[in-house]
Amino acid sequence: MSNEKVQVLIIGSGPAGYTAGIYASRAGLKPVLYTGGQPGGQLTITNDVENYPGYPDGVMGPQMMVDFQKQAERFGTEIRFGMVTAVDFSSYPLKATIDDSTEIEAESVIISTGASAKWLGIPSEEKFNGKGVSACAVCDGFFFKGQDVAIVGAGDTAAEEASYLSKLANKVYMLVRRDEMRASKIMQQRVKNAPNIEILWNTETEEVLGNEEVEAVRVKNNVTGETKEVPVQGFFVAIGHKPNTDIFKGQLDMDENGYIKTIPGTSKTNIEGVFATGDAQDHVYRQAVTAAGSGCMGALDAERFLAAKEMELA
Ligand code: NDP
Repeated sequence: MSNEKVQVLIIGSGPAGYTAGIYASRAGLKPVLYTGGQPGGQLTITNDVENYPGYPDGVMGPQMMVDFQKQAERFGTEIRFGMVTAVDFSSYPLKATIDDSTEIEAESVIISTGASAKWLGIPSEEKFNGKGVSACAVCDGFFFKGQDVAIVGAGDTAAEEASYLSKLANKVYMLVRRDEMRASKIMQQRVKNAPNIEILWNTETEEVLGNEEVEAVRVKNNVTGETKEVPVQGFFVAIGHKPNTDIFKGQLDMDENGYIKTIPGTSKTNIEGVFATGDAQDHVYRQAVTAAGSGCMGALDAERFLAAKEMELA
């Protein structure tokens, strides 16, 4: 197994990772960034991004991530295609294994592995992904202004996104698989009070229907067995996210859903020299701009940590 030493290892290539790369490389720390299996992260599966400041005419998600990458490379971030398959934070320097074959010794690690939306797993959902099917109402709701949409899920995210969509769309169908919702009482009340949200209880999604664009969703009542087609132009999935943090389990403090815990107001984890940024530690905001901001925090925290370490040794 080959072995290499780096000052800053960045794991992940979404807005958080690339922003950490921009800051760390400008600080002269020669960061090495491993992209993970989906270079560019979740934004590469969205279309227009219209809420990222600085792009007044909007930008395509994949293009934006190419721009982020170029900016990180411009200052010397070394970007490598590869997966971090294991880490060992039990001793210092910190250790990471890449694709089970390369061992890296890092003086600091910035985790920007993101999260992945959970999907229902039906073929039509994949077929229309980015073309009427979305897992982010805040990102894509605007495209359905004045139209009819459906959203599946019954947690706080689904309730919050249904409320958000109700302000844009003509009508919102909320597809809830049980006869009650998991969301907090106040969020449920908000949904129930919205005049243009209709909750379909005991309802499961069978297929998203359409030719080039979404035209309807076929749903089934799991009590009566009855199926029907609900005409909609947009279909949102809000059944939760999973942070990509499995390789850190047992080493970093996490909440019960696997989000890495950081010291509030910082990117510091329970391990010195390990910083967590972006959606891997944030289940609340989950926006490109907040992830980028937190990537910046990770790089600044790493820079200060390394400077303090150097002082100790001097
Ligand atoms: P949750 O795990 O809380 O909820 C997921 C929802 O999706 C559940 O209602 C679940 O149904 C439903 N679901 C799961 N799989 C399917 C499926 N295959 N078909 C249909 N429905 C399905 O995820 P959230 O993202 O809503 O929330 C995650 C965490 O973040 C929670 O702790 C939440 O409280 C928090 N949060 C807080 C917010 C706030 O305070 N403003 C905003 C957003 C999130 P079922 O209930 O039947 O299992």
